[in-house]
Amino acid sequence: GLRIGVLALQGDVREHERMLTSLGAQVTTVRREHELEGLDGLVLPGGESSVIDKLLRGTGMYEPLVAALRAGLSVLGTCAGLILLADRLADGITGQQTLGGIDATVRRNAFGTQRESFETDLEVPALEGPPVRAAFIRAPVIEALGPAATPLATLPDGRLVAAEQGALMGLSFHPESTGESRFHRRFLSTARARRAPVCSGGAEMGAD
Ligand code: GLN
Repeated sequence: GLRIGVLALQGDVREHERMLTSLGAQVTTVRREHELEGLDGLVLPGGESSVIDKLLRGTGMYEPLVAALRAGLSVLGTCAGLILLADRLADGITGQQTLGGIDATVRRNAFGTQRESFETDLEVPALEGPPVRAAFIRAPVIEALGPAATPLATLPDGRLVAAEQGALMGLSFHPESTGESRFHRRFLSTARARRAPVCSGGAEMGAD
């Protein structure tokens, strides 16, 4: 199976581990640089982006992670994870940095406080099947998206809440907490495509 890491410094690590395991991935938690080695993909969970940013820098993970993203590692970021993937923050706390990679400007806590968290059905044209049940928990919104990135989902009021660029996908909401597996499947197929380039001989069977 694919080797998928879940960044486990803070946030909803367990939900992602469960989802990825149920989809057949070989899942490991990542807290140190050496744990990035050999991964086919990485999940950046929800949590508190400013805390994760500080912990990334405190553990010496920031630079290696930026390098891994630039080198083409497949990454799925949810909520705080989306914030970490954005090139620009509209309103980070003082000194807060992101890893970057998606040409987006993200606003944190765009829907208000924890009490104003909500679930809704989202149309996601890139996914087959019914609308996505999405949980927004002190969620960010994508205020601007550059031409290198592709929008994936908007709320009925037009606000952009999911995007992807190359091997990176960022979601404002938490599919892992409503049992929605299609984004994780999409992420795994991106990771698989990057790991196993089509080979001309066609004789490679059972490589998975
Ligand atoms: N508000 C959080 C932040 O700024 C994100 C919330 C979440 O990940 N559920 O990082």
